[in-house]
Amino acid sequence: MSPDSLPRAMLITADFAELRRRVAAARHAGQLIGCVPTMGALHAGHVSLMQQARAECDVVIVTLFVNPKQFGPQEDLQKYPRPFEADGDKCRTVGVDLLFQPDVRAMYPVQFATHVAVDGLTAAWEGAVRPTHFRGVTTVVAKLLNLTQPDKAYFGQKDFQQQAIIRRMCRDLDMPTEIVTCPTVRDSDGLALSSRNVYLNPSERASGLSLYRALCLARDKLRAGEKNLAAIRLAMRAEMEQTPDVAVDYATIADPESLVELSEPQSRMVALVAARVGPTRLIDNLLIP
Ligand code: AMP
Repeated sequence: MSPDSLPRAMLITADFAELRRRVAAARHAGQLIGCVPTMGALHAGHVSLMQQARAECDVVIVTLFVNPKQFGPQEDLQKYPRPFEADGDKCRTVGVDLLFQPDVRAMYPVQFATHVAVDGLTAAWEGAVRPTHFRGVTTVVAKLLNLTQPDKAYFGQKDFQQQAIIRRMCRDLDMPTEIVTCPTVRDSDGLALSSRNVYLNPSERASGLSLYRALCLARDKLRAGEKNLAAIRLAMRAEMEQTPDVAVDYATIADPESLVELSEPQSRMVALVAARVGPTRLIDNLLIP
């Protein structure tokens, strides 16, 4: 193996000053910086984001931070999986240059008082079910983009509303980072990969497939020329509700930019679903061109 093909050493740090030094050095050298913000418990979906960043950028920074501000009071912050060593190994395998893993106290010191909130796009869907969630997401992503100053930041289509909101935030606040949205990675049977899938027992996992079935059903009806979106929404809901242990939060067809529910078909649409499967909340979506 030539020295060129040796895996590069990955720096793992929680230190803000060290991160800033590395970022400044990369900028000084004219290198393109890519950032992949995550909460860890990395799976093939996260890995696909890192691989795209690796292919497009000179320096790849992954951030791993289980952000308390995006969890509601009754949500799973305490039990959220934290397999940090395995996460580090996955980053190393992809060739990540820097893994930034800050402490909660460093991110949110005692007197922390500033939040970033996007209006409008955050009101419906996930925002209606999880009222403080997106404010937590935009606050932490703004901090992480300020810290890592990336040319490009990579997000998953899996969290469709989230990537739309982050795009809006970057535009509105004149943040220079390009937001790249990467396709949803699924298991072979269609279940969208999620760090929360580890909570599902085998029968709940089988029931979780009803989200993808509902999305495919919407896509197929639209492709077949069905124009009645209200009827399609009902059919999506019925597909999930007839499945054991599934309680639907929403099933809709919306405009991909504004996320407003559509009353008639248009050239680009997104089908969005969310449901609780047993105690676990799952979301999924499909872009319908
Ligand atoms: P999380 O660690 O859940 O905050 O996710 C970090 C990033 O990975 C977000 O941009 C997610 O949208 C993205 N992501 C999560 N699951 C998937 C998936 N199945 N396919 C592609 N991207 C994903």
